[in-house]
Amino acid sequence: MNQSQSQSQSPRHLVIASGNRHKVIELRAMAAARSLSVAVSAMADHGDAPEIVEDRDTFTGNAVLKAEGIARWLREMTSLPGDTLVVADDSGIVIEALDGAPGVYSARYAGSPTDDDANNAKMVQELRARGVSESPAHYVCVLAVVRLDGQPVDNGEALVLFRGRWDGTARVEHRGTGGFGYDPYVWIDWPSPTSQTVAELSREEKAARSHRGQAMRAFMDALASWLA
Ligand code: IMP
Repeated sequence: MNQSQSQSQSPRHLVIASGNRHKVIELRAMAAARSLSVAVSAMADHGDAPEIVEDRDTFTGNAVLKAEGIARWLREMTSLPGDTLVVADDSGIVIEALDGAPGVYSARYAGSPTDDDANNAKMVQELRARGVSESPAHYVCVLAVVRLDGQPVDNGEALVLFRGRWDGTARVEHRGTGGFGYDPYVWIDWPSPTSQTVAELSREEKAARSHRGQAMRAFMDALASWLA
């Protein structure tokens, strides 16, 4: 890294610390829609990224672990400029009647590797075991943003977080085929005759309301100001 790289004002590269291509495509499209001059890439575009074991007990802890771990790897393995931004996310569902489970274990609630059907079956089983057929629940998404060189991203802060929360009702009844994960069992505006599951929403409707959509839009707003 040279001096001009570490001292330049505007981040120009954004690396998504995720193996999920959809997240890269989504963030790239959002940046393009706002005409942000930032090159969005996936960590896989820069080599074989190390596996980061998500062993923290909070969404924030896991998101930070991933962002910092991938930033360290990129610093050692690539010639990307120091002001490259690295963004990682962690998300899941928190179900009140299950004392907050599956929470940070949402992806592997029924074991590894991730199996949506098995996770949903376990959720239904756990609700029934507690004698309930529904419970308030919310999706959470945390985005963690760091600079590759560990220098402050914004306002002297070396770590910036963006959060989204989407409230609904987890029920043993399911409907719909869209989305992924727990979506067929998460009912929005329940109880009401017009209530739908997240799996019944279009991709656009979901993005407009979802925990991930909220966090990504907040990040994009901040990115626009950092690049200005
Ligand atoms: P992550 O990709 O490590 O953040 O894991 C997130 C896990 O939480 C997924 O595997 C799903 O089980 C669950 N999850 C997060 N967001 C959603 C969503 O929008 N719909 C359904 N399930 C979700």
